[in-house]
Amino acid sequence: MERTPEQQAQIEMAKRLKKKEVVDKKIAAATEERGVSILLTGNGKGKSSSAFGTMARALGHGHKATVVQFIKGRKETGEQLFFGQHPQVSFHVMGHGFTWETRDPELEQQAAHQAWEVAKQALADENVDFVLLDEITYMYKYGYLDVADLVAALAQRPAHQNVMMTGRTAPRELLDSVDTHSKIANERHAFEGGVKAQPGIEW
Ligand code: ATP
Ligand code: MG
Repeated sequence: MERTPEQQAQIEMAKRLKKKEVVDKKIAAATEERGVSILLTGNGKGKSSSAFGTMARALGHGHKATVVQFIKGRKETGEQLFFGQHPQVSFHVMGHGFTWETRDPELEQQAAHQAWEVAKQALADENVDFVLLDEITYMYKYGYLDVADLVAALAQRPAHQNVMMTGRTAPRELLDSVDTHSKIANERHAFEGGVKAQPGIEW
């Protein structure tokens, strides 16, 4: 039997109300107030930019942030030029020219440890509301840092503190310890279509 448009509208409305009831129950059940740890992985574009976007959101609310970028590109990034000037942000880029292109394992390990010291301090600092550890997961992939130290620092950090971490892949211990994990898939990238990387989009 064909439904009239009115009957169809009623069915849709009932479905929507049911859905709202489920969502309302979930909202009522989420009562815990604390900071969260967020990990963004995957081969698609949008990990670092999402983390910096969330940081902008936090800064808008007056939060204080610390950024540690564990790998830098060839060029000065827009995020460093912009947020590095911001009075609420402490911005650090790992030293010794550790980039996507150059590899000198000894220097890199030393630089990784120095950068981790900065990150560790932020993760223990009550005055820091938001910590962004960009591309940190590579440090575990290359064996420069011990993921157990990160997991312990995350567990012991101030209760209100939010943390975001990025990198294409992450060790199991980290995946298992975070509150939120999103994996960004690569469906298509302009680069594959021959479009040159550009300032304001790629860096
Ligand atoms: P973004 O900083 O733009 O959010 P991302 O953090 O997700 O990117 P990374 O893995 O850190 O990506 O790679 C950094 C650079 O590589 C960026 O310039 C980004 O545009 C580019 N990139 C990301 N994903 C791809 C892809 N699937 N193919 C080609 N280039 C990519
Ligand atoms: Mg990135």
